[in-house]
Amino acid sequence: LAKKEGRNNFQFFDESLENQTERYMLIQHGLHNALKRGELAIHYQPKYALDQGNIVGAEALLRWFSPELGTVSPAEFIPIAEETGFIVDIGCWLIERVCQTMNHWRKQGAVLAPVAINISPIQFHRGNLYKTLSRAIADHAIDPALIQIELTEGVVMNRQQSTIELLHSIKSLGVAISIDDFGTGYSSLSYLRHLPIDEIKIDRSFIMEITDAGSLTDTRLTAIPLAVIDLAKNLNIKLVAEGVETEVQSNFLRENGCFIIQGYWFSKPVDEAAMLGFWRRA
Ligand code: C2E
Ligand code: MG
Ligand code: MG
Ligand code: MG
Repeated sequence: LAKKEGRNNFQFFDESLENQTERYMLIQHGLHNALKRGELAIHYQPKYALDQGNIVGAEALLRWFSPELGTVSPAEFIPIAEETGFIVDIGCWLIERVCQTMNHWRKQGAVLAPVAINISPIQFHRGNLYKTLSRAIADHAIDPALIQIELTEGVVMNRQQSTIELLHSIKSLGVAISIDDFGTGYSSLSYLRHLPIDEIKIDRSFIMEITDAGSLTDTRLTAIPLAVIDLAKNLNIKLVAEGVETEVQSNFLRENGCFIIQGYWFSKPVDEAAMLGFWRRA
């Protein structure tokens, strides 16, 4: 009924607590059906090497088109799936589906590079991740060196023995470990020395600060990307810049020694078929 009264009213009602709760419930229930009904899809965003001029990897990103709600962003539905624990089922499906797709790509003649899978902290701690990964890799005859997992700093920061052991067992499978949204979590960096980390991804919020107008004169805006570039180099950890949208950002990164970029400037996330096209040209 709010809709009939016009856009402004609708927005007003939409922001009410009642509507927020209702949307939360719709998403929560919708997600359970989404898996069964095949409403979830996976898009892939290439990682591009500025120095080599080719694609050196891709990140798998969940997409949900709900018949009732339309397109729902993972930024909205993943936190809800985490609260209910359903993220574990979604994550298992995703790992299986990515490996299946990679096998299909290979049969289509693609020359693959590592594909990164985002792992929720809930899935990491409760999801039987080692078994899920090793089974999917074996079932689809995937070279484990072509699989990478992305974790956030919160996961690797805690010094629980179980975390350290799981990281090492995943490494022993041959799967690489990447730290996502680097710089936005906690301030301790010591885990980088102690844990088997292969790659870090500078968060988009830092890359956004690199603009023609500001950053080339205001060194505070580029201080963090430059420090992270140094850090990665000295620790001998691979570095990726995420959310690279402009030529200015891309040039700045190349000139300062960060060669792998992911972002709209090279490509938005694309569907399986379009990603196959990228692999074929790689
Ligand atoms: P993320 O892992 O940091 O993924 C990068 C996000 O930045 C993606 O948003 C991507 O579409 C977006 N992005 C990439 N390049 C650019 C750019 O140049 N400009 C801008 N403005 N954005 C860019 P997306 O796909 O909406 O995903 C949001 C977040 O949801 C992801 O952030 C990740 O934390 C989570 N997510 C997505 N898929 C999965 C999944 O399969 N499992 C889990 N656990 N989380 C996922
Ligand atoms: Mg990610
Ligand atoms: Mg990221
Ligand atoms: Mg991010």
